[in-house]
Amino acid sequence: MANRRPALNHTAMRNLNMALLLRLVRLHAPVSRAELAGLSGLTKAAVSSIVRDLLDVRLVREAAAPACSDPDDAAAPEIGRPGIDLELNPTAGYLLSVEIGVGYVSLLAADFALQIVARRTVETTPGASLDDALALVTALVKSASGPLAREGRPVLGMAVGVAGVVDTTTGVLLFAPNLGWRDAPLQDRLRRTFDAPIVVANEANLAALGESYFHPRPENNFLVYVSSGIGIGGGIVLHDELLTGARGFTGEIGHMTVDPGGLQCACGNIGCWETVASERALFRYARELRAERYPTRLKDVERLSIEMLVEAALARDRLALEALHRVGRWLGLGIANLINIYGPQRVALGGPMALAHEVLLPVIRGEVRRRAFPGVQDSIEIERAAYLGDAALMGGLAYVHKQIMEQPMRWIAGE
Ligand SMILES: [Zn+2]
Repeated sequence: MANRRPALNHTAMRNLNMALLLRLVRLHAPVSRAELAGLSGLTKAAVSSIVRDLLDVRLVREAAAPACSDPDDAAAPEIGRPGIDLELNPTAGYLLSVEIGVGYVSLLAADFALQIVARRTVETTPGASLDDALALVTALVKSASGPLAREGRPVLGMAVGVAGVVDTTTGVLLFAPNLGWRDAPLQDRLRRTFDAPIVVANEANLAALGESYFHPRPENNFLVYVSSGIGIGGGIVLHDELLTGARGFTGEIGHMTVDPGGLQCACGNIGCWETVASERALFRYARELRAERYPTRLKDVERLSIEMLVEAALARDRLALEALHRVGRWLGLGIANLINIYGPQRVALGGPMALAHEVLLPVIRGEVRRRAFPGVQDSIEIERAAYLGDAALMGGLAYVHKQIMEQPMRWIAGE
């Protein structure tokens, strides 16, 4: 955040103004210099000067004139001649985002205008070692970046999301119970192979950032992101800043205790939120309801998927509905706690469980109405996350993009 020295030096001030204009170009492109002056409060001369630098380093470019008049331009006729519109320059370079999940390694590559230019996924064998996973990451990155490098596009940065607790200040993976790894210096290992800025972070934290970055709210962009799948993860994001805690991680919301007399969690604790509101809990409820002879058309409750339960619930299958309602009530209870603690503007439900959003969201909202403070829950949005399968990968792209957008002077200086 802003430096607290009495006055910012010229370079820092210019970086702030550049970052501001870059952000406005991203959010409003195609946008003219005159419009940027109006949006930023900077003088037209200052905007012209900064834009010249941004054009020089190719972070922005002048957009081709539209073939016919753009209806959006009608909103600002008083500016006069709209001038040449600006947009982020897709050829500035590309961003890589890798996810090391349970059973797969995936990659997305995007240009600087955030258009996806490559996508790869490979499955991993259960119990794969860290070395195996890193070899796959290397192979995927080479396969995706080779063609782009031949076009002369530099790698601007790479994010690696992993299903575990990561100290983002050091890039060390502290604990990944579902992958069986502990205390792995992931960032250092990757830096030996790749000549680009690399960040390693928890996948659900990245997903939270991506949700905020790609779907911003202009007024009060304060998001609680809850991802429910095999476990529950998430992140708290205020104005595109991920809350990272004193040791570089936070958002381990799946392990808040909600049922002290309940079941043991994979983390060793008793009654964590994910023991009652994750995929495993959902399937357990289905089995329990079956044992209670709840009516259902589902044939085999031992082999269920969320998709099967959603399909059955939408066909009014009573067992499927009740199992989802139980998960929904527990999700609602935990979300009400998070709302009371953080007072967010919105809550996004992601992960595989969000496939059942049509059934879950009304139950969650009902529980929140009952449990969250009236003033805190007023006008809060509780909705499905924008990305499901790609959420962590999109979050990795957001992380790298945001770093460049906030420190454009580093690119000017060629650091
Ligand atoms: Zn736990």
